[in-house]
Amino acid sequence: MSSSQIRENVERIQSEIKELSQGRIVRLLAATKTRSAEEIQEAFAAGVDAAGENRAQEFAEKFKNGAYADYDVQFIGHLQTNKVKLVVGHVSLIHSVDSVKLLRAIDTRAAELGLVQDVLAEVNIGLEPEKHGVFPENLTAFLDEAAEFSHVHIRGLMTVAPKSEEPDGNRQFFAKMYKLFIDNRAEKRDNVVMEYLSMGMSGDYRAAICEGSNLIRIGTGLFGPRQ
Ligand SMILES: *Cc1c(COP(=O)(O)O)cnc(C)c1O
Repeated sequence: MSSSQIRENVERIQSEIKELSQGRIVRLLAATKTRSAEEIQEAFAAGVDAAGENRAQEFAEKFKNGAYADYDVQFIGHLQTNKVKLVVGHVSLIHSVDSVKLLRAIDTRAAELGLVQDVLAEVNIGLEPEKHGVFPENLTAFLDEAAEFSHVHIRGLMTVAPKSEEPDGNRQFFAKMYKLFIDNRAEKRDNVVMEYLSMGMSGDYRAAICEGSNLIRIGTGLFGPRQ
């Protein structure tokens, strides 16, 4: 996609955020899987708040080649424990933590590096068996366990909502996520704060913002269809 189209898309989505968010801050993350360094730079120049990658290997290569310059880059895909080294310490936020095994692997690596890694707990709000994420009924226990890892800080929740043909089809799921976010924000746990609610993609970000998202992840809506 041409750089002027990317810029137009960023500006359009930012004005929709203004219109829908009732003055709350909603961050715009560009989902940059398969996109080139040039496209990523254009999105940053147009004002996106962060880039988010999905695959550890792809992230590591682009990172090495300076694709994100000094901009904020995050990890939004499923992370396998054997790929943790490629990501921990290089991204400001890992959106997709959904097991104690992964928490432990991130904690160990972060301790080796002498840092604290910020992450989100991924929730499988649609209860889809093929998808990643902690089931809502297990979230309390998961966050209780997460409190024990001092080199990992949980900074909020993330979800990938079910595929929906309707722009409003996921509203009920977003509302459920917001309730989990608010309920857990009231709980006091070590190493856990509820600051980010990462939900909403190209097909459903408007509904997500209306239901309380403060971090949307947009790929095709910024860059066009993926090959
Ligand atoms: C690809 C991806 C997105 C963006 O998807 P689009 O539908 O292209 O906007 C958001 N979140 C995650 C986790 C993704 O993998």
